[in-house]
Amino acid sequence: MANNQYKADIGLEVHVELATRSKMFCSCAVVDPISAPPNTAVCPVCCGMPGVLPVINRNAVELAIKAGLALNCQIAETSIFARKNYFYPDLPKGYQISQYEYPLAYDGFMLIRTSQGEKRIRVRRAHLEEDTGKLTHMNENGETYSLVNLNRAGVPLLEIVSEPDMHTVEEVLAYSHELRLLLRWLGVSSGDMEKGSMRFEANLSMRPVDCEELGTRVEVKNLNSFRAMELAILYQMKMQEETLSRGGKVEQQTLGWSEANNKTVVQRSKEDANDYRYFPEPDLPPLVVDSPWLQAVKASMPEMPAAKRARYAGEMGLNGEDIERLVEEKENVRFFEDCLAAAPALNPKTIVNWMLTDLFAWLNINGKAIDTVDPKLFVQLVEAVDEGVINQSTGKEVLVEMLESGKTPSAIIEAKGLHQISDNSLITSLVSSVLQANPKEVQSYLAGKETLANWLFGQVMREAQGKANPQVVKTELQRQLDAMK
Ligand code: ADP
Ligand code: MG
Ligand code: ZN
Repeated sequence: MANNQYKADIGLEVHVELATRSKMFCSCAVVDPISAPPNTAVCPVCCGMPGVLPVINRNAVELAIKAGLALNCQIAETSIFARKNYFYPDLPKGYQISQYEYPLAYDGFMLIRTSQGEKRIRVRRAHLEEDTGKLTHMNENGETYSLVNLNRAGVPLLEIVSEPDMHTVEEVLAYSHELRLLLRWLGVSSGDMEKGSMRFEANLSMRPVDCEELGTRVEVKNLNSFRAMELAILYQMKMQEETLSRGGKVEQQTLGWSEANNKTVVQRSKEDANDYRYFPEPDLPPLVVDSPWLQAVKASMPEMPAAKRARYAGEMGLNGEDIERLVEEKENVRFFEDCLAAAPALNPKTIVNWMLTDLFAWLNINGKAIDTVDPKLFVQLVEAVDEGVINQSTGKEVLVEMLESGKTPSAIIEAKGLHQISDNSLITSLVSSVLQANPKEVQSYLAGKETLANWLFGQVMREAQGKANPQVVKTELQRQLDAMK
């Protein structure tokens, strides 16, 4: 099969659960899908009892507006909820309330960064809807049945639909990672994929590279991890390319991803496509987001990751990898900026180095979050090293003790007498006594075994109990050795 004869067009539909306390149209709590006992967060509204009325969750609307703004979308002044009718046991009402013709947000885009540079992926729409319940399929001694848990029924969802602007797995992963980052940044969603808070559907078609028109697409549902999405897309690209290159036609289908078999499985073909008989939800008024409300939400938006990245790279000269490690968690950024504010004289790079290496290592080992650390104490430590009060390796020890005890760095340095010895006369006499005590090594060094200089350096540092300024020791040692030549 010739390579690069075909190219892929990929569009994503992403469902995210909004981080509200209550459900989309009732006051039931949104509960943890794993720990909460089944069917304990339910009421007549989300169970679809006759005669009840839904009420729109204002907070869900605000989170959706934030997401829409972050995706550079237009926010509709008036959007309309609609009924999407279908029959399934996880859907107690027999329909899902969604938005159809008039979504809340539309015509946006997201910039993604790839090895080929920056790319713009258009976002067609982002609309509000409600989640379904959850079925658990059981099989006991050959008897099969399903359990229905309605805790999730009615949880607010935002569905974000892209245009088919992605062409490679790399682009799909860049888009979905960046989307998750933005949603978490804004507190719109936990983005917790293991708990189903973020779920992907990939639409994929292939066409000859010189063809303008998009090919026939398949839709792969239930992609619950980046890995599953990557595997499913690669699998479908291969399948479709094979079909097309032997002159076959791709059938429009809805597929699922089988984790167990590492392949896509057919769920529905075009013939039995659902007809959802959408119509405007008669129990809800149009959703009106007037200008004052929109402005208020806009004003509450924090500085976005793109602006942080530009500032950290430009003004501070941080490298790309460090910047991503900061920006991936909003708490990291908050801590970093609190440090900058507490120690404006320090070089931001020095703060970042201590933060991403020693501090993160300690947090990792101890299973602690960064917001348990006091940024003011932390920068005191970085300053102590920066100003030469203690040396680098003593700094690492003081850091750990500071994190464990909560004592200030200066108290620890004082109590243990860890002040660095930069006093030249003291270091001069330390070096000469070490050289006198090790005549054999000095002779070998002078005879050409240069590596012994490092060993002698180590002896001096040990004599000084690690407290000597290493730079001063190095210079003095070299001076005395040179004098013997
Ligand atoms: P539906 O609502 O039936 O799923 P849409 O036309 O609204 O269909 O498209 C859903 C998703 O499919 C969008 O993300 C869109 O970008 C993508 N898509 C549409 N046509 C194609 C195609 N030919 N190839 C790849 N993706 C496509
Ligand atoms: Mg679809
Ligand atoms: Zn309810």
